[in-house]
Amino acid sequence: MDPVTTITNKRQYDTTTDWEKCMLCQTAQPCTLSKLGKQGLEKVQHAIKLRFEYRDLSSLQIIERLQAVNLSEIYETISIQYHRKCYSDFTNGTLIERLRHKFQNQHQPSGSVSTSSITNSVTEPQHPISRRTLQALDKNLCIFCQTHYVSKVTNLVMTKPMSDKILQLAQHDFIMRCRLAGISDLIAADGRYHLKCYSRFTLKIQTDIVSSSADVCMVSLVNELDNGLHWGNIYTLQDVWQRYRDLQLEEDIVAKAGVYKN
Ligand SMILES: [Zn+2]
Ligand SMILES: [Zn+2]
Repeated sequence: MDPVTTITNKRQYDTTTDWEKCMLCQTAQPCTLSKLGKQGLEKVQHAIKLRFEYRDLSSLQIIERLQAVNLSEIYETISIQYHRKCYSDFTNGTLIERLRHKFQNQHQPSGSVSTSSITNSVTEPQHPISRRTLQALDKNLCIFCQTHYVSKVTNLVMTKPMSDKILQLAQHDFIMRCRLAGISDLIAADGRYHLKCYSRFTLKIQTDIVSSSADVCMVSLVNELDNGLHWGNIYTLQDVWQRYRDLQLEEDIVAKAGVYKN
């Protein structure tokens, strides 16, 4: 979609941190800023790690912004500042514990939820889902559950349509998107799966898509607009509408191709 004009004083998508402000909220609220100590730094780093693992969408921007830098190195060179309220909310163990419960309820394959890991302390989860697990695929395990649960019988992704379908559906899921990032062919990547996990994932995503009040095209459109607007692009309503219709057309073609392939 071509913008009608671009504002010269463009506002970039804010991935950088202004270290003069609170590291968390990044606002210049007239509150006294405190200087982050070594222990505070470790607590924040730990909270970032856990919130990332438990897919905390509410603080995704903070997480992405702070994960993009080496906090320990920055701590050595400048003084990092924060609002006490922002810090205590972000590192709050009870809130993080709640995120973990929510995450585990949504992502544990049924039958493998262990009560001991749920009641375990948040600071030392019995089976922490490491950032590595999130981002890198363990090729010996099922791509969906990444565990050895129930049976060791896993199927290899053998066909291109199957590979494409999984990769396409994975785009709708935060964890799977991270895990399969950079993989364009699951056959070449020796992707394995439990049939049960595959069915569950497919059903979950398809249900999400259908039940979502904002359809896929609208989400794509909003993303495009959001990105463009951050760069100062201005669009006419007519172009936006046309783009929406084009996206619907593309989506329809993809959906129909999917039916024929499978
Ligand atoms: Zn703040
Ligand atoms: Zn599995």
